[in-house]
Formats: sequence, C-alpha cells, structure tokens
Amino acid sequence: MQKFEAFATDFIQMNGNKTGPISPIITQSAAFGYASCAEAEGIFDGSVKKPLYARMGNPTTAQLERLLAHMEGGVGAIATASGMGAISLAVISMTQAGDEIISIGGLFGGTYGFFHETLSRFGIVTHFLSADAMDTLHSVITPKTKILFLESVGNPNMRLPDITAIATIAQEHGIALMVDNTVTPITLQPLKLGADIVVYSTTKIIAGNASVLGGAAIFRAIGGEGDKFRSPRYAFLSKFIEKMGENALIGMGRKRALRDLGMSASAFSSYLTLLGLETLPFRMPRSIENVRTVALALHAAGLAVNHPALPHHPDHARFLGLFDGSCGTLLTLDFGTKARAFAFLDASKLITITANIADSRTLGLHMASTIYRDFSAQDRAFLGITDGLVRISIGLESPQAIIDDFLEAYTHVH
Ligand SMILES: *Cc1c(COP(=O)(O)O)cnc(C)c1O
Repeated sequence: MQKFEAFATDFIQMNGNKTGPISPIITQSAAFGYASCAEAEGIFDGSVKKPLYARMGNPTTAQLERLLAHMEGGVGAIATASGMGAISLAVISMTQAGDEIISIGGLFGGTYGFFHETLSRFGIVTHFLSADAMDTLHSVITPKTKILFLESVGNPNMRLPDITAIATIAQEHGIALMVDNTVTPITLQPLKLGADIVVYSTTKIIAGNASVLGGAAIFRAIGGEGDKFRSPRYAFLSKFIEKMGENALIGMGRKRALRDLGMSASAFSSYLTLLGLETLPFRMPRSIENVRTVALALHAAGLAVNHPALPHHPDHARFLGLFDGSCGTLLTLDFGTKARAFAFLDASKLITITANIADSRTLGLHMASTIYRDFSAQDRAFLGITDGLVRISIGLESPQAIIDDFLEAYTHVH
C-alpha cells in the first residue's frame, strides 16, 4: 500500500496547474499555428518542442502522457484513443510481415482477435502459450520473434504469469517484453520488473467510471551498448536511436504507428482520464480490499469462485509474493450452465451487466454468450471460457452490500 501513498501526492501535484485554471486545460484544436517558417522547420525536425498537428500529439494529452510515464518509471508515453489503439500502436510499430509474437497466458478477447485474425492477415504469426508452458517458451523463440506479450492478470482466466521469470528469458534472448497492465496500475510496475513496454486500456480503472475510452503505451529508455534494442533483431530502430537516443521507442511509436494509423487520443478524452488518474491511488486500495473480502466470503458460502486470493488457487503464492496481495478488480464465478449464470446475473440488483471492467460500480457479464460468442470451442477452452462462466468486476461499494446482494441472487439459481 506504500506505492499508492507515494502516487497520491504525485498525481495530485502533477495534475492541472498551480496558477490560472487549476483543472487541466483542454486544448481543443486539430491544428496549431507556427510562429515562423523556421519554427515550422524546427517542429518538424523535432528540435522545437511545440505541437505539430493533433494526430501527432496535443498539449492536454501530453500532460496525461507525463503522468503515465511517471507512474511506470518510463522515459515517455503515447496516449491513444483506446486500449486496443495502444496495443496496436505498440505491436505494429515493432513488427512487419514474417515476424512472430509469443503471447503468454490469458488474453483479453480483443487482443486475442487482433493477434489471431488481424495480424495474421498481414503475415505476422502469434504463438499462444499458457502461463504454465514456461519450459516450452525457449523452444518457440526464433530469430523472427519480435515481442513477448502478456497480461499482468489473465482476463478472465485469473492466472498470474511469472513476469520476473519471463523478463529474464526475454533478456537472455534479446526480445522485447510487452505487458498489458490494464488491471494492475501502480500495483505492478512492469518496467521495473524487466518489461520494455507497458500498455493500458485507461478506459478501465484509470479513468474509473466509464466516462471515457482511452489507452496508452509507456516505453523504457534505450540504454547504451548491449541494450537488446541495439541488436540486428531491431535493426529498424537504429535510425531512431541515432536521432532520439534514449527516447527512440517514443519516436518509433509516433512515426511507425500514430502518424499513419491515427489512433490518437482526443484532448477531451485525455482531460477526463487525467481527472480519473488523480484519484486512482485512493480507489485502488479500496478495490483490492473489496475484491479480496468478496472472494473469500463467496467461496465460504459455497460458490465456485476463481481468484488468486483463495489458498487453493494455483497462483496463490505468486499473488502473495510478486503481486503483493492484489491483482485488480476481477473475479469469476462458474455457475455450471448458461441458464444458471443468467439466473444469477438477472436476479442481482447491484450488478450492472456490461462488457466493461474495473469501474467504481460492480459489473458482471456471462462470457460465452457475449465477448466469446464467435470463438471456436477450441479457442474458448484455451482461454478458459466455460458455459457457466460469469466475470465479475468488483466496485467501490460496501463489500457487505455486494456480498448480501450476491448471496440473495444466488438463491434464484436452480
Ligand atoms: C479493455 C481492455 C483492453 C482494450 O481496451 P479498450 O480501451 O476497450 O480498447 C485491452 N486489454 C485489457 C486487459 C482490457 O481489459
């Protein structure tokens, strides 16, 4: 909880302004005037730090990027229009046809679709490994592997990957490690564990109240001689390293994805995200305590709960160690059949039925009939999607009110 305390001060102090408008300023403009031709030239060659055009960046978004880079201990960040925008920016800027990605552990449905269907259309192959398949990881790595990708917490399978061990393998082989840290901001700081790039859907707990879609990719600084990004595997980076030094990955993201694909964050979205970020350090500990309390109570009442706080969970030791007793707001309940899952969700008065997660309010969704409906039986089995699986995201309400509501709703399940 020490980490949250430090950011409580930083986020409030770094957000907004000390003089003039206290709230972050929304710079609502698509384009920006240059003082002279010489200034225009400087802005385009990067020597003058002023806004170029809103697709490439915006002052409100730049403030959000500074706070997010600070949160991760990164050299910089690129905020995007959505979490999928951030993932596609980070992945596309590092890959080309013929390259390979290795995805380890549970995977958000949208990311799975992006890797499995969209990237494969462009000749980029993804190998999907389960979080337990660490011994096979070495053998899947080839000279064409560009990215090891993982989510800090498998959604919805609730597995916790051994990020430290995976970072060691990534380092040994000189391969970029990208971590989707959407559900564990502040709790985990993947760059400090050996990751190179962190991606977020800020739509979730960072914004915190379903007010805005957004995402971000945060990059580490490029090091000196021997840095994995100076190797032939990442030859395309050398021109960025030459020009931008430790900031090369930011240049890569902006020039190889943001400029051409345009997943840029809007100023108003960045403003709403900044407001959310300011209270994140206060909301996170409450969420973490709530999900633990509810998971233990529902398990004690005989529901089939999946959460790493439970002693029988395969990753319980990692939950207590590496994850310091917290892994976001999610838990899952398995009711055995679709009809029983529907009965539970429809009987609950507290749950908002929606596809979102990590909100101030408690959310729930039956997985197989919604997000995973178009997935083959084989893909569902790999992702841990059973017929009766309900994903719950615990909110900030009173934990006793949540428990009471869930147990009441459970009496309607036959
Ligand atoms: C929601 C989510 C995404 C996608 O984010 P959007 O903002 O909806 O585009 C990616 N990864 C994880 C883990 C998510 O929960």
